[in-house]
Amino acid sequence: MLETEKTKERVALSAKNMLDEGLVVETWGNVSARAEENMVIAPSGLDYKKLNFTDMVVMDLHGNVLEGKWKPSSEHPLHRLIYQRRKDVNAVMHTHSIYATTFAVARKEILTVVEDFSQVVGGSVKVADYAMPGSHKLAVNCVEALQDNSAVLIANHGLVAVGKTLEDVLLTCKVIEKTALITLYANMLGGPVVIDEKHVQKLHKYFKEQYGQRKQENK
Ligand code: 13P
Ligand code: ZN
Repeated sequence: MLETEKTKERVALSAKNMLDEGLVVETWGNVSARAEENMVIAPSGLDYKKLNFTDMVVMDLHGNVLEGKWKPSSEHPLHRLIYQRRKDVNAVMHTHSIYATTFAVARKEILTVVEDFSQVVGGSVKVADYAMPGSHKLAVNCVEALQDNSAVLIANHGLVAVGKTLEDVLLTCKVIEKTALITLYANMLGGPVVIDEKHVQKLHKYFKEQYGQRKQENK
């Protein structure tokens, strides 16, 4: 099977995973992956439960639809600009998950208060300035606030995670959602304590280089 066809299958599966993990309500949110010099993106406003790889849209990074029978996600300017600016990124996931969006609504960044969040995300998740959904301005604001990080909140809207693979971005969205909820609970107990920046850097390095079945720790 050609690489782009495989990517269509992976993106369709990721869209279903987003729904199964409770990261989207109805059809809001979207996901894409780089496919050579183009991207495969989910269609706009279709029922996630019924999506399959033949519903996926192939676009070039200038906004031309190359393949597909449906309109692409209305957030294609955001996905395209991220791929243009971040050569290290091969997958983008945008959710409207409840707890992350709570922080986006309050326009408060999600801080490094939990150990696994610090490992996976490696820094706080900042809030991009408000812009209309689907607009070029929203894309620009997000890319500016994202910088070299792995996620950004969109003011009064939701979350965007970027990463090397579709598995990475799903994990990032899940860990951020969990941390947003924990932060809200910790606020009831007098407020969370932020992990020291030098420990955050160590945790993130450990996750990238050693966690799980990655190489053995030097003894
Ligand atoms: P689509 O259904 O067009 O992907 O858009 C939903 C959304 O999240 C808009 O910001
Ligand atoms: Zn959205």
